[in-house]
Amino acid sequence: MKISDILRSGKPTVSFEFFPPKTDEGFDDLFHTIKALQPLGPDYVSVTYGAGGSTRRKTVDLVKRIKAEIGIESMAHLTCVGSTQDEIAEILEDLQAGGMENVLPLRGDPPHGASEFQAVEGGFGYASELVAFIRPRYQFCLAGACYPEKHPEAVDADRDLDNLKRKVDAGVDFLITQLFFDNADFYRFRDRCAAAGIDLPIIAGIMPIRNVKQIKRFSQMIGASLPAGLLHKIEAVEDDEEAVAQVGTAHAARQCEDLLANGVAGLHFYTLNRSTATRAIYQEIRHLLQAPAAR
Ligand SMILES: Cc1cc2nc3c(=O)[nH]c(=O)nc-3n(C[C@H](O)[C@H](O)[C@H](O)COP(=O)(O)OP(=O)(O)OC[C@H]3O[C@@H](n4cnc5c(N)ncnc54)[C@H](O)[C@@H]3O)c2cc1C
Repeated sequence: MKISDILRSGKPTVSFEFFPPKTDEGFDDLFHTIKALQPLGPDYVSVTYGAGGSTRRKTVDLVKRIKAEIGIESMAHLTCVGSTQDEIAEILEDLQAGGMENVLPLRGDPPHGASEFQAVEGGFGYASELVAFIRPRYQFCLAGACYPEKHPEAVDADRDLDNLKRKVDAGVDFLITQLFFDNADFYRFRDRCAAAGIDLPIIAGIMPIRNVKQIKRFSQMIGASLPAGLLHKIEAVEDDEEAVAQVGTAHAARQCEDLLANGVAGLHFYTLNRSTATRAIYQEIRHLLQAPAAR
């Protein structure tokens, strides 16, 4: 089923993001995680797309298996990194032949060590170009990535929004945000999208914090700010992973409650292939998930 059709039902969606494990054991673990999350009734799950041929193959295989074997709607991420148009088309054909209906086209990040993204010859330079390639050729429902605190490479928020509008106009059906920890950033961004004529469901990306060093490094890399109060709380228990996870889970649960109360179109959990925090948050918000979302 297309995620755009699920979103049309009016209820806020719940979705989980996974990455393809490196090993066979990792695959088994991931299927355990997905099965542990299945009773929560996610509307769909998504699988990230990495650099390198074998990881890419795994994304395609994984989305097909999740849909066929577990019966959850799934979406493949797909980046422009290192691929020509023909190579991208091959992956899309494969997804289509496997009955997949949802794709998240992305530009991707520059490879390690490179400061700038470089399109390969015959490839795509921006996600909007990839969207424009897919839209007239395939029937997929297409998602787009967006950044409440602006994409780290963007000169400023206005130009980032112009570029997002370009991607939306190329044929995106809904948006998923980068993770953020302060809902005020999300609401401001949603208002700015509306003012710019971006009239699509915007799904909020949520990541429960588990490790202080990891989240500091990661949030700096992606340009997401950690509110001082939250930072203070996790730093106070920095050496106790369990306590950090409790603070992180509680913060994410409060974020979700507030987002649902303010008509968010959906919640997308960056699970890092784990289920504990997501299940705990779900228990706290499940009673709020029936109300129609304001788009
Ligand atoms: C929900 C989500 C899922 C993700 N999944 C993955 C994944 O699976 N694999 C992975 O490798 N990465 C993933 N990423 C990270 C993503 O690849 C990076 O953030 C990447 O740097 C930007 O990708 P994009 O698709 O948003 O790029 P774009 O939309 O192309 O934007 C990239 C930058 O270029 C600018 N820009 C866009 N169009 C133009 C233009 N025409 N002219 C000038 N500037 C322009 C934008 O303002 C922005 O600064 C994900 C991010 C999110 C939010």
